[in-house]
Amino acid sequence: MDAAILIPFLLIIGLAVGSFLNVCIYRIPIGKSIIRPGSFCPLCKKPITWYDNIPIISYVLLGGRCRWCKEAISLRYPIVESLTGALFTLFFYYLVIKTGEHLEVYVIYTLLGCALIVSSFIDMELYIIPNEITYAGMVSAPLFSLLFPSLHHSTDNLRVFNLLGSVRLDALAASLLGILIGGGLVLVFGVLGTLLLRKEAMGMGDVKLMAMVGGIMGWKPAVVIFFLAPFFALVVAIPLLFLGKGRTIPYAPFLSLATLVSIPLHEPFVRFLDSRLYLFSELLRELL
Ligand SMILES: [Zn+2]
Repeated sequence: MDAAILIPFLLIIGLAVGSFLNVCIYRIPIGKSIIRPGSFCPLCKKPITWYDNIPIISYVLLGGRCRWCKEAISLRYPIVESLTGALFTLFFYYLVIKTGEHLEVYVIYTLLGCALIVSSFIDMELYIIPNEITYAGMVSAPLFSLLFPSLHHSTDNLRVFNLLGSVRLDALAASLLGILIGGGLVLVFGVLGTLLLRKEAMGMGDVKLMAMVGGIMGWKPAVVIFFLAPFFALVVAIPLLFLGKGRTIPYAPFLSLATLVSIPLHEPFVRFLDSRLYLFSELLRELL
């Protein structure tokens, strides 16, 4: 199919999936089914008809208010829908059209993007990252890697494991190492930060979130993402501190933002990391 047809098609699918992610953001933390019943207004409990449930368009037509009780609908709804629509189309453009990645790599990265959107918005509202998402991610990452080893080709996570001799086993090992290093980095820095600041610096939710990211992306991008996220956090934290509101800042949105940016752009970052690792190994060789 032509990209001119595919991109608008993926945008529509993305907007619809975004609408579903909104349901997940609302229902997963309160332990309600994400399938049944259909959408309803949280205040007056009236069911939302299909024509009031069209992504973005319905929000605009209703003036951001419930048709029945006129309660304001959270701006989160159109924001999540737009972000998911952008995710579906931009990833397709960068990964499939521009980089020529396999279709399954696009699908898996897009799934990861959806998991990160849901985790980030729940974290922003409730300061938790649901285990339902991170555990599912940590289990599916090695499975996806075994089934679709091309997931780890472009990021060169495999070099260490050429010993195993099987592309599938190499990809599985790359995923497991990604889980270990992704989660491990957050854990180690979280413990150090807690000791230094004398208050919890990073939660176990962040550890599991980065383990999930590492399992899909591999260890090198996980390292890049871990060191990229604080830059995004600083941009937000500094103004909040000046406003005197910087008590607790959810960290999942910054890890997610760093991941979403790194998916299309990781190559120069990974190359930079490789050159540092090379210098480090040369230094070690000199010293030994
Ligand atoms: Zn209502």
